[in-house]
Amino acid sequence: MRYGCIASCSFVHQLLCLSTSDDLFSLPYCPGKTLVIGASYVALECGGFLAGLGLDVTIMVRSILLRGFDQDMANRAGEHMETHGVKFIRRFVPTKIEELEAGSPGRLRVTAKSTETDEIIEDEYNTVLIAVGRDACTDKIGLDKAGVKVNPKNGKIPVNDEEQTNVPHIYAIGDILEGKWELTPVAIQAGRLLARRLYSGSTVKCDYINVPTTVFTPLEYGACGLSEERATELYGQDNISVYHSLFWPLEFTVPGRDNNRCYAKIICNTLDDDRVIGFHYLGPNAGEVTQGFGVAMKCGVTKEQLDTTIGIHPTCAEVFTTLQVTKRSGGDITQAGC
Ligand code: NAP
Repeated sequence: MRYGCIASCSFVHQLLCLSTSDDLFSLPYCPGKTLVIGASYVALECGGFLAGLGLDVTIMVRSILLRGFDQDMANRAGEHMETHGVKFIRRFVPTKIEELEAGSPGRLRVTAKSTETDEIIEDEYNTVLIAVGRDACTDKIGLDKAGVKVNPKNGKIPVNDEEQTNVPHIYAIGDILEGKWELTPVAIQAGRLLARRLYSGSTVKCDYINVPTTVFTPLEYGACGLSEERATELYGQDNISVYHSLFWPLEFTVPGRDNNRCYAKIICNTLDDDRVIGFHYLGPNAGEVTQGFGVAMKCGVTKEQLDTTIGIHPTCAEVFTTLQVTKRSGGDITQAGC
């Protein structure tokens, strides 16, 4: 049997312009006052680091921050950015961008309209960064000839849990998959496991649920497993326990920075031994912290196992070994002392 495989192939969405996230890293001049359009990984990360460099940054959000992520966490990451000077224009989309003056940077006038009312707003910026995602370029590679089903709205390909398309000998992996993560490490893992299943008798499938990931916002957000919304939808409000705590990293205490703004949350399935089905961390070094707990989740870690793990003091990650307060109880979650 010969197999075909459609690998990740995506394309930066409608380059109106001025600057994409890729252009930003090679920009030979300071972008100046910047408008970022979009509210996902790229928009929040770029908006965050530009503000960190001291620039005047505004993020224009069409709907919500970080669609698909736990919204409690996404909003906390956004609030922290707002507290540190990033402006958000919520529920607006741009309708016109005009060049007022060429230059490095030049001057642009942006017109935008509300997604809820007739309100129109206008402002001037030096740079507009379009961070509205990527399209799956699946329309010109002959999939129709092979009979592979594609979602006509977004070019994405539906597959089963073995990355098999509707044509049994054609597989697809990566960003072009419908309803799966658009992350390079996920595509690499899926491809590796697929090759092993096809050619060396393995049965191991890619786990698209317990995917550790981090959004590198100024206060970093690391997550693995389900969001609180998705866990509630799958298991019901009464069958999950959400443990949470604010915390204050030791390194923030000396400069008196962001007291009790970092946040840790786990979601446990009470029907399954309090197994941790969602892990969420907002704080420093989120990638490092989340990677390790991602392994624990692959091993099926339970709340009791976290409770009986000895914490390393004074780290941020130790908070997950001492979580006592459930959201349901409404108990105090502020951290006193370090
Ligand atoms: P994305 O996750 O696809 O998000 C697109 C954003 O743009 C959403 O906020 C969306 O809003 C908004 N948007 C889409 N069309 C719009 C329009 N016409 N007008 C206004 N807003 C619009 O895209 P991304 O942030 O560019 O990221 C691309 C991929 O790269 C991601 O899927 C991500 O996994 C990956 N990535 C990962 C990392 C990391 O691992 N740290 C970093 C960067 C990128 P709605 O919610 O309203 O649709």
